[in-house]
Amino acid sequence: MGRTIAIAGGGIVGRVLAVALASQSHLNVRLIAGPHPAADERASALAASARRMLARLGVWQAVAVEAEPMRGMVITDSAEGDLVRPEVLTFEGETDGHPFAHMVPNETLFRALKARCAALGIEEHAETVTFYDEDAQGVVVELSGGGRITADVLIAADGRHSKVRQIAGIGVVEKDYGQCGIAGTVSHELEHNGIATQHFLPAGPFAMLPLTGRRSSIVWTERPEFAADIARMDPMLAGFEVERVFGLSLGRITVEKPLQVYPLRSSVARDFAAGRVALAGDAGHVIHPLAGQGLNLGLRDAAVLAECLIEAARIGEDPAAGLPRYVKRRRADTVQMALVTDGLNALFSKRSSLLRAARSVALGLVEERDKLKSLFMREAAGLEGELPRLMRGEAI
Ligand SMILES: Cc1cc2nc3c(=O)[nH]c(=O)nc-3n(C[C@H](O)[C@H](O)[C@H](O)COP(=O)(O)OP(=O)(O)OC[C@H]3O[C@@H](n4cnc5c(N)ncnc54)[C@H](O)[C@@H]3O)c2cc1C
Repeated sequence: MGRTIAIAGGGIVGRVLAVALASQSHLNVRLIAGPHPAADERASALAASARRMLARLGVWQAVAVEAEPMRGMVITDSAEGDLVRPEVLTFEGETDGHPFAHMVPNETLFRALKARCAALGIEEHAETVTFYDEDAQGVVVELSGGGRITADVLIAADGRHSKVRQIAGIGVVEKDYGQCGIAGTVSHELEHNGIATQHFLPAGPFAMLPLTGRRSSIVWTERPEFAADIARMDPMLAGFEVERVFGLSLGRITVEKPLQVYPLRSSVARDFAAGRVALAGDAGHVIHPLAGQGLNLGLRDAAVLAECLIEAARIGEDPAAGLPRYVKRRRADTVQMALVTDGLNALFSKRSSLLRAARSVALGLVEERDKLKSLFMREAAGLEGELPRLMRGEAI
């Protein structure tokens, strides 16, 4: 009998891990997918490293037609009521001959992953994990339908409110931003030319991110009361609000469907593994969406985790022996990204004009230095630091 990895959570991170394990090794994979996800109108900025991984796993091919390359980014910083938005930083170009990121609708990626899981014959349970127990031999996972699964390792990819993390007794360091992210798709009269725009406004950042055609995905950070009003608003009126805040640089804007609201908080688990359980994706860390890095971090977890579990199994070890190596490789990167996004949000959401002047000077220094800019681009492309093999486009 081969070794078995159970994965709790059939979101994007859980499914990418399932595909990585099933396509790169002989490990048995059991996916406990949880409830069918609600409609997700968001799109994600997938870094170049994530694209390489999805291509290696045979998923990118199904996503590519709906993926829009990001060719550049414009960052502005303005005070309340400013009519002109001063550009403080601009990026344009490619890293290693490819766009530094692609915008991909979450639904498209989810559907492609579900199809790839089915094609690989991954055993999937449309149930939730209600409890688990472990001993030296393995872990027994109890399911909401009354069944049980035995496995060598259980991965918690069950999202920000992770039940598995709670059963494992792993605490989190949390912060409520008192902000909401308003997300959805808009269409506009003019071409975006692959350029993403991020306006740093006093209530928080507003991002207009290029999708295929004359469409963009917005992520708009606002106070919760205002966000709730926007979500209730008729899409036509919501379109006027988007124009008021974003401006008319893309011509008239139409909101395609009612906008969705996500309360924003950060949360980082105090540990990423306990015994035979490891955390991946939002179960381990939730960060502010302003840098578009939450899912990218989760995909890096999946790439490193697959490598550690497969390497342990290949040399005849219990796969659980790979978990401490996973924690060692992921901890610093995650904490660093959580601190950077937290710091940027705090720095840019302040109304002080003195602070705004200091920000302009600091970003102006980056703007004038090509080396620093190309370092920023490589960071955004997920190409800095020690890359797991899948993110280098290699097999495990
Ligand atoms: C407005 C907004 C914009 C964002 N934009 C970006 C971006 O551009 N780029 C980026 O990289 N990131 C972005 N993010 C972050 C990104 O969306 C998340 O990090 C990512 O979706 C997390 O995926 P996940 O699979 O870890 O968790 P989830 O998507 O939450 O999936 C968890 C899964 O677990 C299942 N589940 C729950 N409980 C159980 C249980 N007990 N047993 C079994 N299964 C269970 C659920 O049904 C679900 O399917 C954004 C976030 C927000 C809020």
